[in-house]
Amino acid sequence: MTVPSLQKKGFAIAVINALSSHICVLDQSGRIIAVNLAWQNFGAENSHRRESDIGSNYLSICKNSSGAGSEEAEEFAAGVRAILDGGTSLFQKEYPCHSPTASRWFLGRVTPLDFSEGGAVISHENITARRLLENELERLAATDPLTGLPNRRYFFNIANVEFEKVRRFDAQASIIMIDVDAFKAVNDTHGHAGGDEVLRSTSRRCREMMRQSDVLARFGGEEFVVLLPHTTAEAAVVVAELLRRTIYESPVQVGKNQIYVTASFGVSEILSDDVSIDAGLARADKALYEAKRSGRNCVR
Ligand code: GH3
Ligand code: MG
Ligand code: MG
Repeated sequence: MTVPSLQKKGFAIAVINALSSHICVLDQSGRIIAVNLAWQNFGAENSHRRESDIGSNYLSICKNSSGAGSEEAEEFAAGVRAILDGGTSLFQKEYPCHSPTASRWFLGRVTPLDFSEGGAVISHENITARRLLENELERLAATDPLTGLPNRRYFFNIANVEFEKVRRFDAQASIIMIDVDAFKAVNDTHGHAGGDEVLRSTSRRCREMMRQSDVLARFGGEEFVVLLPHTTAEAAVVVAELLRRTIYESPVQVGKNQIYVTASFGVSEILSDDVSIDAGLARADKALYEAKRSGRNCVR
């Protein structure tokens, strides 16, 4: 049996046509000199290319791209140029390429053609399934499953960014710590499911009262925390008072029962000479403790 040579055109074509990645081969000037079947099919399905791309300049296609991924296209073109100029053996980049009906992402890889005339091989692999999974994992990692609110971990990410703004740019920001009063009794009287419904409903109502830029997160158990950018302690107290009254005045309907709950609030301002966000949180927590000591259902 003779071993087919890779240089033999028919063999090379059969190999690249067997791959699911969209592959094109460029000459030294960036002109497309060969494409595989997956590339052709993708072009046909996405109707923006009516004829074969062979003969077009890949760098010009990148330059003229628009919509999602057009920014990445410029960076990708620079990567292709670096490969054509020699000196680099691999350039790769993940980029969005959304169709009108679906979100899609691709991994583009560029390697030298390695012939004496130069050139490059470009492959585009559809990585949408992996990307969607990653996005979903990221969302789940930042969300409290019971209330759908951002969780403690997400809160710290945002709060640390806000703390940097206060420290570096003299911005203002405040924190409100919220703890539902006598929540153990709610569970004891209405069951854990009843307690869960109170947490869901209370957080939904609080969320509706706040600005889009305010971050309400579940801090843990029956504790919530609000981060208020561009807000002084005085203004944050007004927000806390509004939340307090909203919770106090609107009972939660669980089955046939109306459950009345109250909450206590501790407010603090993030200060530019705080060591970390924890200092502001500790002050809010101390204020919350004062509110509990003063008889609950109040703001301190
Ligand atoms: P205080 O007014 O001092 O805050 O009293 P409290 O009863 O609210 O405080 P405590 O910390 O003693 O009890 C909090 C209770 O919250 C205990 C715990 O079982 C309950 N809890 C924590 N997480 C959840 C949850 O996800 N769902 C339900 N239903 N209950 C929860
Ligand atoms: Mg508590
Ligand atoms: Mg409590």
